[in-house]
Amino acid sequence: MPVIEEVTAPRSFERIGSHSHIRGLGLDENGKARFMGDGMVGQVKAREAAGIAVELIKRGKLAGKGILLVGPTGSGKTAIAMGIARELGEDVPFVQIAGSEIYSAEVKKTEFLKEALRRAIGVRISEERKVYEGEIREIKINRTKHPFNPYVEIPESVIITLRTKDDEKTIRAGREIAYQLLEMGVEEGDVIQIDAETGRISKIGTTKEEEGLFFKRKVNLPSGPVLKIKEFTYTVTLHDLDVANARGNIFGLLFSTGAEISDEIRQRVDETVKKWIEEGKASLVPGVLFIDEVHMLDIEAFSFLARAMESELAPILILATNRGRTKIRGTDLEAPHGIPIDMLDRLLIINTEPYRKEEIREIVKIRAKEEKIEVSEDAIEYLAELGEKTSLRYAVQLLAPASVLARGGRVERENIEKAKEYFADLRRSMEFVEKLEGMLQ
Ligand code: ATP
Repeated sequence: MPVIEEVTAPRSFERIGSHSHIRGLGLDENGKARFMGDGMVGQVKAREAAGIAVELIKRGKLAGKGILLVGPTGSGKTAIAMGIARELGEDVPFVQIAGSEIYSAEVKKTEFLKEALRRAIGVRISEERKVYEGEIREIKINRTKHPFNPYVEIPESVIITLRTKDDEKTIRAGREIAYQLLEMGVEEGDVIQIDAETGRISKIGTTKEEEGLFFKRKVNLPSGPVLKIKEFTYTVTLHDLDVANARGNIFGLLFSTGAEISDEIRQRVDETVKKWIEEGKASLVPGVLFIDEVHMLDIEAFSFLARAMESELAPILILATNRGRTKIRGTDLEAPHGIPIDMLDRLLIINTEPYRKEEIREIVKIRAKEEKIEVSEDAIEYLAELGEKTSLRYAVQLLAPASVLARGGRVERENIEKAKEYFADLRRSMEFVEKLEGMLQ
């Protein structure tokens, strides 16, 4: 009798990243930007330039080079970098750091950068897995008394008979599987797949005539043996593998804080990955390392990065800054954007312009939808006006507190006005301090 391992999925709460709505650059087949597409709005020239960069990356023409996004704060530099990563593929890693983050008391600068670079390189692994697949011919859930409440019965185990055109197998599995099946509401006639290792179940369809309003999911009875070998593909990062190796097991992936990763471990991981690639079990997925406020990096960090860009295991480097001519940190030399010339020589520069009101209005709408906040037309208009006067970021940030003020109901203009009273934008906050300083003098 095959044994199905029980697994409990880790519970995670929903956290909406501030760029979660971006699914690409929103370009048409000719590389022209639609005003709105893939969650992106406006910033047309920069998005089209980014599209060309994506083509270059795909053709391997950007190896050893990078992209520099230059524009004022809140002009969508992060959004565009994210769009580039999404254009390259769904499982392409996107890692975002700020230049100032490298100066930490605990970790050496180069160590921090090494880790960021390795987080930005994916390894797509293909694995053969045993899977039960068939139509449910019979399903029987065994129940037992609740340990603390004798009046309640809870599932204890399940016996499922699956069949295909050519085969039939009865499997017994534990409580977790029973709960999963109950939750999914599967029944006789449904065609399911059970991963024999993880116990994860998915419903493929049903052999019964089942017509919804818009769908018809009737499938044929599968053929072949019930227990099949299937190929699964998933992507981890080099850093995930480093952590797992440092911990000596896969649990390193789940509890990944504080593991000591040495260069020997990294080397071992690289060798293993190379072997997998040669054996056809894995392929590399170079991701995007996005470094915001790049003018905060010092000369040492720049030379480290320049060397890393030469390596065969390098991610695509996207740097961003809002500075013009400034000193290169760690030197007395001034340079454009505070970046050493030899690094600048490797970068394609894309400028991002401040947003106009129409763009702000649409971005606010997208964010409201993403954060599941209902906002009245009037309030959107007000936010667009505010965004134009202050910043896009401020307008977007007011959504959440306004929703609290509207007690989770529809956000009206007055809720935004109130939220604006409570939370200051940058200029107002600066004026506030300056006024206080003036009074003290
Ligand atoms: P920068 O990196 O230049 O400071 P940003 O991308 O971080 O800019 P924010 O000021 O954080 O921009 O933008 C606020 C919100 O608006 C974020 O959720 C961001 O994803 C979104 N956003 C910015 N630009 C665009 C755009 N062109 N299209 C859609 N959403 C955008």
